[in-house]
Amino acid sequence: MVDFTRDFTMTIDGEAVVGDATIDVINPATEEPVARAPDCSRDQLDAAVAAARAAFTGWRATPIEQRRAAVAKIGEVIGAHMQEFSRLFTLEQGRPLAMVGPEVGGAAFWAQQVSQQELPVTVNEETPNRRSETRHVPIGVVGAIVPWNFPLMIGIWKIAGALLTGNALVIKPSPYTPLTMLKLGEAMREHLPPGVFNVVSGGDAVGPWITAHPGIDKISFTGSTATGKRVMENASASLKRITLELGGNDAAIVLPDVDVAAIAEPLFWAAFGNSGQVCTAAKRIYVHEDIYGEVATALTALARNIPMGDGLAEGNLLGPVQNRAQFERVKALIAQAKANGETFLTGGEPSEGKGYFIPATIVDNPPEDSATVQEEAFGPLVPLLKYSDVDDAIARANASDYGLAGSVWSNDMEAALAVAERLETGTVWINETLYVMPWTPFAGHKQSGIGVEHGIEGLLEFTVPQTITARKPLVAAPREPATEGAEA
Ligand code: NAD
Repeated sequence: MVDFTRDFTMTIDGEAVVGDATIDVINPATEEPVARAPDCSRDQLDAAVAAARAAFTGWRATPIEQRRAAVAKIGEVIGAHMQEFSRLFTLEQGRPLAMVGPEVGGAAFWAQQVSQQELPVTVNEETPNRRSETRHVPIGVVGAIVPWNFPLMIGIWKIAGALLTGNALVIKPSPYTPLTMLKLGEAMREHLPPGVFNVVSGGDAVGPWITAHPGIDKISFTGSTATGKRVMENASASLKRITLELGGNDAAIVLPDVDVAAIAEPLFWAAFGNSGQVCTAAKRIYVHEDIYGEVATALTALARNIPMGDGLAEGNLLGPVQNRAQFERVKALIAQAKANGETFLTGGEPSEGKGYFIPATIVDNPPEDSATVQEEAFGPLVPLLKYSDVDDAIARANASDYGLAGSVWSNDMEAALAVAERLETGTVWINETLYVMPWTPFAGHKQSGIGVEHGIEGLLEFTVPQTITARKPLVAAPREPATEGAEA
């Protein structure tokens, strides 16, 4: 029986492991400690990697049907503890309980879906003499590193694909939100061979140890672009395979034909869901000048009326910023905007009491070169920007080092598609955002990432191709019987 209120232990080689030291996990709504999580030591990480290496040989040879069942089991286990995971999630992450279902239920759904995915086998050549085929075999030990904004879902993205394809895994959640992942490790101990699925938690040292570890063959990383560059550098020493899902500064382009009343709410949540702490949040909203005022009024009304507060209190739909460092960062961006003379349609006054609360803040058409527009705030601070010519809106949207996702809002599907095709991003949504599914490849362009997650292309990132070419059995050709008189 897993107790979700205490005993937060790492899972190493199928066993519960406490840390020599601990880190405090803080509830961002109250700034009170929720629990202590183990601070993984170097020796403990080495033990986790050694256990994963030892388990890999058996796991890769385990029939795929058994691996499918194990991945589906992860979904079952989450589904069986929905309430416990959800409450713990709100306590450590801050997102209101009413908004946690898509993450916890979604993680269960995701594992179930991935458990059914098939790796392709390509027959390159089939002739009377030769057969050549390419399959996709596991890489070895995967080191997975996860951020604090979707700590369970992003973890599942990595766990399900890595285990289905026959890799062993060491996963490290963010120090700010380790608890749900530690509990998942605990709940899965009885269902997986020891060493296949290791969960370690800890402070800032653990990530770099993982990315440089000679016993790890692949890094699947989600986090900021700055950290992604460090991951790539460290991983180069042993030429690890890497998948990097990094930051974004997604543009939403609102065309003049939209029904403002209909799009206001989805557009609001595109920007402010999870308090703006979403890699693919709408972080710059470009609105045609003809409807700018109407959109500004509608978004402002929503921002003022949607209840914000402690996620465990009923009725709240917006929570705090997840941690103090991020709170300070968003506050600094707001202060900078004020110093620049930028004006606010609403918000702009971070809480001075307990909890990292910043009301949904909308900046009124700030200069394009301001930090408000150019930087990923990763919080409830969004610029509303005016355009008159759609070509100009597209050019401004594309003038970014990021290329994660973007969205276009219009009732004219042809016009929307024409804009979508010109955005330099890995994903473009039309009239929605955040529709991310296990069967849909998701990739960051430019400095938003390297590689792909999800879909078969994402699954393949946990594998390396192996081509087997067979010359068909070599049988000596029967000797031609010598014909009489032939030598004459
Ligand atoms: P972060 O880069 O600070 O941390 C991410 C993870 O990396 C954490 O587990 C952290 O402990 C670990 N880490 C920190 N330094 C490390 C190092 N030197 N080596 C190895 N690991 C290290 O990011 P964050 O603040 O937790 O998350 C926010 C960022 O993540 C935003 O930029 C957001 O856009 C991005 N993000 C991207 C996606 C995506 O799919 N592209 C999804 C979610 C979040």
